[in-house]
Amino acid sequence: MTDVQQAEPRPLAEITSFHAHVYYDPQSTRPQAERLRSWIGERFPVTLGRWHEVKVGPHDQAMYQVAFAKEVFAELVPWLMLNHEGLSILIHPNTSSPRRDHLVDPIWIGKPLPVHADQLPEQAEIELAPAPNTHPSRRV
Ligand code: ZN
Repeated sequence: MTDVQQAEPRPLAEITSFHAHVYYDPQSTRPQAERLRSWIGERFPVTLGRWHEVKVGPHDQAMYQVAFAKEVFAELVPWLMLNHEGLSILIHPNTSSPRRDHLVDPIWIGKPLPVHADQLPEQAEIELAPAPNTHPSRRV
């Protein structure tokens, strides 16, 4: 048998939370990003991060982060597929390896963008989902 056949799959327990990074162009698509942000906040218990109008960390475009618990994934991610307004969104798990989370294991909604590996540590402290800062009142 090969190593591949003998290996155990990684358990779901490795994932402590998720991020969605919503990318936009400050010159042309900020209105769409603003509208999407409002829509998310009205509908999902998530943590909306601040606006990064310039490239930051491994990210190649302006963006904001949406942090969310595992329990939110099943509704938020399909909803984003339908409502991303043409924006690129990177959705990645948070495990102990930020580099693998962002580069190897993410999913993209919309057009994939470059992610800069040199800005991502191989290992890091696990990140639990922070307390939501939204007060959802609308149905999805
Ligand atoms: Zn992230």
